[in-house]
Amino acid sequence: MKHETKPVSPAAALAALRPSACPGLVRVVAARDGGLCRIRLPGGMLSAARARALAEAALAHASGVLELTNRANVQIRGVRAGEEAALSATLIGAGFGPDGIDAASPVEHACAADELRNVMLSPLAGIDPNASCDTSGLAAALIDMMQREARFAALSPKFALQLDGGERMAMLEHPHDIWLAALPHGARVRFALGLAGSPATQPIGTLASEDICASIRALLHAFLDLASADATRMRDVLATHSLDALLQRARDHGGFALMRDDAALHAWRREASPAGLRLGAHALHADGSGYVGAQPALGRLDAPTLHALATLAEDSGDATLRVTPWQGLLLPNVPARVMPAALERLHALGLIVSRDDPLARLIACTGSTGCAKSRADTKADAQRLAAVLPPGVEAHLTGCERSCAAAHCAPFTLLASEPDHYDLYERDDTQSRFGRLVARNLTIEAAALALAQRPRSTQDV
Ligand code: SF4
Repeated sequence: MKHETKPVSPAAALAALRPSACPGLVRVVAARDGGLCRIRLPGGMLSAARARALAEAALAHASGVLELTNRANVQIRGVRAGEEAALSATLIGAGFGPDGIDAASPVEHACAADELRNVMLSPLAGIDPNASCDTSGLAAALIDMMQREARFAALSPKFALQLDGGERMAMLEHPHDIWLAALPHGARVRFALGLAGSPATQPIGTLASEDICASIRALLHAFLDLASADATRMRDVLATHSLDALLQRARDHGGFALMRDDAALHAWRREASPAGLRLGAHALHADGSGYVGAQPALGRLDAPTLHALATLAEDSGDATLRVTPWQGLLLPNVPARVMPAALERLHALGLIVSRDDPLARLIACTGSTGCAKSRADTKADAQRLAAVLPPGVEAHLTGCERSCAAAHCAPFTLLASEPDHYDLYERDDTQSRFGRLVARNLTIEAAALALAQRPRSTQDV
């Protein structure tokens, strides 16, 4: 393998070439519990065969612990020192690499191609009969366009796009640098286009589906033209340049076909998906067939569980799994008669299948067992909080201000102040990261009491 013969490790070569702390398929980043490898899944889709390959790679080269991420990807934790390149090669050999990349590809090419795959789709892309279109083909075309143009390797590994086909379940809380959402009416599909937000926010215009690749290409060039060295996200460029300046620069690159005054946008509204759609059995078709949703507690599962999920997907559905941006997964194309047994098996595997489970309403970052920045063991504290969490309350525990587990502002945030202690924030309508500070330095038990008192509490600081 070409990159194994280099005198420096792939990680060191990448750090010099494209400095980033963002893990990837070939960029295995050091963490307190070992290396961290992130595997980007197109549309969150994972075949049973690849799920087994992932589980086996996690056991062969790492601790066997895996995480589902809030961008519908998978991470392998605890990669053993010296086994990073072998893990990446194993995963690329199993088909997890970008198209056109194999184990002999130069590591910097593999890394750049991998990092241009941040395109989020609905977990129901292509299987929801109520959707306006199947976005998976468009996603593949956009990724191919970005990977072909050498200049786009300069985009940040965090630069992300979202395609919304109008499915009944879509992530609307995560801001994306560029988002496209299918307009619900019309013989030819047009897409609303928005920047630095999500389909829940106001679009800037519309694009015909056949114009999307050329238009997004022009927009990416315009972004790179205007971005200063420390401006990595669309919001950074829009903070220093007007929207009109950005769009004019995109037009200068050619092929930019945005219609800004499309009447279809006057009534633009994209409703958030009911949280209940993420878990349990849901029919999509008249014969009752559909999908079954579940989530591992706090987004973490072990290799044997992933192995068992692969078998369940073969027995119950179409031998595929879909990872969701709520750190859960779906089994698509499950016949109605099979759904009850599939739910029972998911429950028996330790997965959450109902919103009644308090752990369905908690998210937590890696915490101090895996991250040196963390001021508390957020995963363990979330488990303790689950035992006393008031009904209906949703909370996010984060070990520091970076908020890795949540790209959105949760209804309540517990920000670690020291081991076993947290500052409590409540979401409000300001733009502040976690909302309004409610109380400082609470134990988990005191936090549960404070949460139970919301919104009636008059003890706010
Ligand atoms: S939010 Fe902070 S403490 Fe938690 S994993 Fe991210 S960097 Fe570490």
